[in-house]
Amino acid sequence: MDTMNFANDPGHVVEADRAHVWHHISQHKAYETIDPRIIVEGRGLRVWDIKGKEHIDAVSGGVWTVNIGYGRERMGKAISDAVTKMCFFGGALGTIPGAQFAEMLIEKMPGLDRVYYANSGSEANEKAFKMVRQISHKHYGGKKSKILYRERDYHGTTIANLSAGGQDERNAQYGPFVPGFIRVPHCLEYRSQDGTLGEEYAANAAKAIEDVILAEGADTIGALCLEPITAGGGIIVPPPGYWERVQELCRKYDILLHIDEVVCGLGRTGAWFGYQQFGVQPDIVTMAKGVASGYAAISCCVTTNAVFDMFKDDTDKLSYFRDISTFGGCTAGPAAAIENMRIIEEEDLLGNSRAMGAHLSGNLHALMDKHKWIGDVRGMGLFQGAELVADRDSKEPLDEKKVQAIVADCMAQGIIIGATNRSLPGFNNTLLFAPSLIATQDDLNQITEAVDQAITRVLG
Ligand code: PMP
Repeated sequence: MDTMNFANDPGHVVEADRAHVWHHISQHKAYETIDPRIIVEGRGLRVWDIKGKEHIDAVSGGVWTVNIGYGRERMGKAISDAVTKMCFFGGALGTIPGAQFAEMLIEKMPGLDRVYYANSGSEANEKAFKMVRQISHKHYGGKKSKILYRERDYHGTTIANLSAGGQDERNAQYGPFVPGFIRVPHCLEYRSQDGTLGEEYAANAAKAIEDVILAEGADTIGALCLEPITAGGGIIVPPPGYWERVQELCRKYDILLHIDEVVCGLGRTGAWFGYQQFGVQPDIVTMAKGVASGYAAISCCVTTNAVFDMFKDDTDKLSYFRDISTFGGCTAGPAAAIENMRIIEEEDLLGNSRAMGAHLSGNLHALMDKHKWIGDVRGMGLFQGAELVADRDSKEPLDEKKVQAIVADCMAQGIIIGATNRSLPGFNNTLLFAPSLIATQDDLNQITEAVDQAITRVLG
């Protein structure tokens, strides 16, 4: 059956999917009784499923990726032009789109200099870890090889990334893990253990990192890897003072600061990068999702020249970064990323993310006034979360099944929202909103209206 005929036979598509596709993060037992959902088309913020139902997508392709929205013909054209002319060249050779996007990206990242291409967020983070390890061997005689990561942060799906993973539910059953990754405590003011708030809480959270550094020995630690705003761990925006202190710690103890911008990068928070909201200067930045908004697979590991120069030494045959990514040689990725960045600039999507983020936050706060089940609303730009609790005083997280029922109710209303990770005890309790950066007030009102109704129906 050719592709056209196949696509025109929805029943066949669903059965082929049910029979042969292994879906990401899915318990397939469910598909014995329900149909897998197939999305067939998207325009702007809206997508249509194979049954013809229209949805407003409040999570940018499910995993906060399609920053510029669906159906952009010029993205298709840019990719088509690039791959028709020169689809791929891998290994040590460069390409025109690769050079052009690197120049454009570095303009947005003062203080950073070099772009290393890969395909996924996990892969970009893995590159960063390998850089840190190689620097340790080459420049510190094997010391400074440990990498600190934070509770609740997530950096990807490979075994090394899970070793740096702060979400235990994702890690369970995948060990043993890679040694040399050390966990530091999270920074979620809403769940402050000692009752401190604001700058005081931030100072304590940073001090907790310093305690780990001192316990391990600063000379054993090469890098600290953090999300600027913890995404899947519950949309956690650190309070003022935290990032300044983290930066100070890295400088004081000669630790590279690696910021994972896989989610926050390319405008999600209302700045090009999340770290720029906090005035920090990282040594390594990784990014993926919004780089080409999902129109093509591309990720980048961006470094300073100080990091890059540590690999320049033609007297030592092992000293260059002996790493490769086959599909880092695809031109579709950088060609799409160039067009994606142009669209963000031309349409001032950073400004829209800030303005509409404020509107969305206002709507969610209004829902919080109405529903006692919302314990906290937090976020930045068009990246907002509403933490659900069974009880506001004890802050006991709302039962996961109820959270999922709210998400399902919204879905039935034609609004796709998210919730933080499944089945982690006490964890899957934050509703998540990360619509494309083109969202309007009207779109956002429709989204929060659906949430209002869903909460009323599920929780009363
Ligand atoms: N870092 C963060 C902060 C993420 O949220 C994710 C994916 N959700 C990743 C890394 C991994 O990206 P990928 O799935 O493209 O490997």
